[in-house]
Amino acid sequence: APVVYPSSTPSVPVVSTSVYTHLFSASPSDPTSVGGYPGSSPAFIDAPSGTTLTRAQLKNLTLSFAFGIRNHPTTRANVGDTVLIYSQNSLHWPVVLFGCVAAGLRCTLANSGYNARELTYQYNDSKARLVLTTEAGLPVAKEMFKGLGLSEHEANSRLIVLGESLAWAGGPNAPRQAPNLLYSEDLLGKNKLESEVRFDGERAHETLYLCYSSGTTGKPKGVETTHQNITALMDMAKPLFPPAKKLLGILPFYHIYGAVMLLQYPVAANMSVTIQPRFDPVQFCASIEKYNIDIALIVPPVLVVLARHPAVDQYDLSSLSILFSGAAPLGAALTRQVVDRLTPKRKGKGHVHILQGYGLTETSPTSHLIPFEDWSRKMGSCGVLLPNLEARLVIDGDGEGLEDALPGQPGELWLRGPTVMKGYLNNPTATVDAITKDGWFRTGDIATRDVEGFYYIVDRRKELIKYKGFQVPPAELESVLLTHPDVADCAVIGVESVREATELPRAYIVAADLKKVKTPEQKKALELQVQKWITTKVARHKFLRGGVVVIDIIPKSAAGKILRRELRDRAKEELAGR
Ligand code: AMP
Repeated sequence: APVVYPSSTPSVPVVSTSVYTHLFSASPSDPTSVGGYPGSSPAFIDAPSGTTLTRAQLKNLTLSFAFGIRNHPTTRANVGDTVLIYSQNSLHWPVVLFGCVAAGLRCTLANSGYNARELTYQYNDSKARLVLTTEAGLPVAKEMFKGLGLSEHEANSRLIVLGESLAWAGGPNAPRQAPNLLYSEDLLGKNKLESEVRFDGERAHETLYLCYSSGTTGKPKGVETTHQNITALMDMAKPLFPPAKKLLGILPFYHIYGAVMLLQYPVAANMSVTIQPRFDPVQFCASIEKYNIDIALIVPPVLVVLARHPAVDQYDLSSLSILFSGAAPLGAALTRQVVDRLTPKRKGKGHVHILQGYGLTETSPTSHLIPFEDWSRKMGSCGVLLPNLEARLVIDGDGEGLEDALPGQPGELWLRGPTVMKGYLNNPTATVDAITKDGWFRTGDIATRDVEGFYYIVDRRKELIKYKGFQVPPAELESVLLTHPDVADCAVIGVESVREATELPRAYIVAADLKKVKTPEQKKALELQVQKWITTKVARHKFLRGGVVVIDIIPKSAAGKILRRELRDRAKEELAGR
């Protein structure tokens, strides 16, 4: 029998309702409550202007938006339609996202840095009908529709603009840059849905979100996250999530980490989220001081900045008690550095706690958290299993089938439980590869587990590269590189940058015309040219910051699979001593 590690935290009940019902229903004894907490408590705050939405306002606005998007003559969205959100963080997000949820729509969340090609891929693959974007996102969205052969009129009828004005929330006004288009605030009329579209019982297994992940191999795939995946995650995280009230929201909401841990979990736990469009060290520190932030969710490269940046000394950061890091590995050395720098800023209020979590888009997302009290004892660990989850550590027994790793030994982390995705959208092959018949999801990460049940991510079996927490699928970059006229073959791998606490994508290319790369100067010229060229083809996080190297041949197995391990070893040698 396989060795199965259950969570040591007692299981929580799993409900079968929609995310909206779970978060926003009133309790019978107190009709003014929203999801069990006072409607008057602040839910979301716009950092630049201070504009605040209470839980009750959020409920009203979302039901109003839901009515608008269902009934407006331009949009007329039907239950089950997919809406693509292409926007950086703003106060619009909770309104339109939960508005779509209340309306019974599915949402696919796209990286706000995508170009038209990248956006088109997700729009087509998810079969989205409507696109919600900002004024800044309009040129790309319009270019996409043009490329798809839509007339301007057709394109306009599929666009909803999230404007700069926050007047609909009682905040500052701003003029419209695209007055001929429909703005999300136009959908916030007097009418509202009397109650949300319900997903009770079996319907709780219907797909709600489609975030994109490349999984263990290949191009990005739509991850089918159901209502129940998310309601379960919110209830499962509660016993382990650290005690805090005021969150700072700098992580992008379009990544599942932001979408769930900054937009949904805080509503479930009655925390407020101060929203910032992106990470900027000065704004980050200024917001902590101004809004008395006690917890910020971050990725490891943010800690690198906090270890060094002068802004840390210029603001009062004494309220900041917890930094919660996820989406990429965080080492003990960096943790120590930041603890040592920030703890004195607490002015005698104790340590800054740096906690780590782990998860994947496919597990909605969090599967592991460090318990609050264990943060310093277990630095470098990504935490213990959330309740309701089981884990296995599996090794490929060299043709002998699968074996369980011995205690303390590394193995591929497999996970089972109510937060495992339904599957990859319209991709049964990838789904069967990812989830076994018994419901085990193969993470593609190599982990160890200590005797106390703390997990450590030690390696990755899958080809995925992560730049500052963002997914960089090598297969996608490779297919783009092959369109370069001078590239005959290529492979992309990740190389580690300790200084930036991230991986960097690095390409190995074979020149199409060997005569053109005879001298070292010619090679160098092609490498630089390709490195520059890629910046015109892909979003910023996919730039080849780890370099481009011309080689004679890409190492491949007999079956034609790129031997990435060989390239990674080669890169280590090439970069040693730099
Ligand atoms: P994503 O689906 O974009 O959230 O990416 C999931 C992947 O990020 C995981 O499979 C890991 O490779 C990586 N990851 C997330 N959290 C951690 C962590 N705490 N330590 C190491 N790797 C992590």
